Amino acid sequence: MKKAAIFILLITFLIGCQQENFLAQQIEKRDTQQDYKEEPESFVQVEEEDKEQAEQVNEEEQENEQTEEKKDDTLTVVDNPDSVSLVVNKQRKLPDGYEPDDLVEANVPYYAAEGDPKRLIRQVAAGALEDLFAAAKEDGLELVAVSGYRSYDRQKQIYENNVETKGQDHADKFSAKPGTSEHQTGLAMDVASAALVAVLEQSFIETEEGQWLEDHAHEHGFIIRYPEGKEAITGYSYEPWHLRYVGKETATEIYQAQVTLEEFFGLYP
Ligand SMILES: [Zn+2]
Repeated sequence: MKKAAIFILLITFLIGCQQENFLAQQIEKRDTQQDYKEEPESFVQVEEEDKEQAEQVNEEEQENEQTEEKKDDTLTVVDNPDSVSLVVNKQRKLPDGYEPDDLVEANVPYYAAEGDPKRLIRQVAAGALEDLFAAAKEDGLELVAVSGYRSYDRQKQIYENNVETKGQDHADKFSAKPGTSEHQTGLAMDVASAALVAVLEQSFIETEEGQWLEDHAHEHGFIIRYPEGKEAITGYSYEPWHLRYVGKETATEIYQAQVTLEEFFGLYP
């Protein structure tokens, strides 16, 4: 009888420990996720995750070097990397090691610290970005530039780091291959609300700043590059914060026709 009572006590104690342990793990997990969101570098990663599409999922089972090579072979290398009309996406990559030769910092509020390459944008788009920020300010809205230029090497580092730490499948799922990120063109800038600077999420469109960009970006030569409901065409989920410079005329035509860059340039059947 006594033995049985001790046994029951012991079991109760062990279950209690496990639950505590489970709770501790949950809390730790939540904290890690929060840190992840607050850490500035996560802007890159949050977006990488958004960029994940299902295209590779079916191929994962048979993944080996062969299929990888085949996939790379199907990528077109763009022949106009310096044009403001270029189109880079999951099928169209920049030439290996491409780096724009006119990167500058625009005179706008930045989230990244001074000297960070994320503050860079091509000269041809910098003035337009300044005009855009000034126009928003006139309407009483404070924007902040979060992430612009990302080098081939940086993208390669992100991708390879993901392969190393999380495996090939995960890396292919959650990070863009070097050469295929629009941020490498120097014509893209992720923009957020200054008050909600840590938010590069789809809910950005529910803020006044997000809505303002949707309505006015084209007046300054920018488009919302990855619009809602066009994932099948662009290859990316809706990103209301990701602006791409194409020039006023093109931006206005794209805005009025409500098409993607791919459709505008006849790259989508
Ligand atoms: Zn972006």
